[in-house]
Amino acid sequence: MRLDDERPSDNIEDRRGEGGFGGGFGFPRGRRIPVRFPQGRGVRRGGFGLGTLVILFVLAWFLGINPLALLGGLTGGGGPAIPVPQEEAQNAPAPHDTASRRAADAGKIFVAKVLGTTERTWQRIFRDQLHMRYQPPRLVLFSGAVRSACGIAAAAMGPFYCPLDRKVYIDLSFYRDMREKLGAGGDFAQAYVIAHEVGHHVQNLLGIAEKVMRQRQRLPRARANALSVRMELQADCFAGVWGHDNRHLLERGDLEEALNAAAAIGDDRLQRRTQGYVVPESFTHGTSEQRVRWFRRGFESGDIRACDTFSARRL
Ligand SMILES: [Zn+2]
Repeated sequence: MRLDDERPSDNIEDRRGEGGFGGGFGFPRGRRIPVRFPQGRGVRRGGFGLGTLVILFVLAWFLGINPLALLGGLTGGGGPAIPVPQEEAQNAPAPHDTASRRAADAGKIFVAKVLGTTERTWQRIFRDQLHMRYQPPRLVLFSGAVRSACGIAAAAMGPFYCPLDRKVYIDLSFYRDMREKLGAGGDFAQAYVIAHEVGHHVQNLLGIAEKVMRQRQRLPRARANALSVRMELQADCFAGVWGHDNRHLLERGDLEEALNAAAAIGDDRLQRRTQGYVVPESFTHGTSEQRVRWFRRGFESGDIRACDTFSARRL
């Protein structure tokens, strides 16, 4: 990607090195996170009771679904909230020497520039096609674990979007995992990850996220999962629309990088990798083939109307 001339977005919050557990609840070191939170004042964030969010996570746990599937995580492979010992969170890489600091800064600048491209794209589409004003999300960089309005998340869960505080969360070590464990490297693949999460933000602004969340609650698990898949594939398609709008930034091989990444995080491939077999009813994000196809659809058309996964007969 040619990002040299791109303006970095200001909507970045750098919370790396803070850990997700500093202060507040005072979790015992090295123990699993208790699901009971202190009652009373001071635990509300963004106008939503933490209790509600805890219930959401506990419910998701019992239903056997990844709570972040409800919140727009990038993959369905994370499993329920993963407790991280406090020690580990505190020992998360804090850039000390110049080389790693420079690398960390480069990562931040990259993410800020990509976020800037999503702002330009969606501002235009909202203004010209939807006749709405686009309110950009904020993007939080974290290391190890992070507390969001949607609950506490560990880096192992992958990047996600929290509709309650309208923020995208990413630990940049995910990019290393993508490259080394999933074989999905490349700058455009990394940019696609952000564009996918921003796609969830667009769904949130358009009221799609809330509608889906409400419908999911009434459905049996397999059908609720099927609805999640439609939502995720739409976020992939929206990422494709963003790619189309920014195709002047692409270099040779970039599109293939994004398609390769979309394939690498398909439910079927991730399940085969982690558990050795595939359970289609448990899919929450779509197969590799579907994710590639919907990204491509957005990319080729550049039209959000091509992304109506909810009325598509065949996904
Ligand atoms: Zn997602």
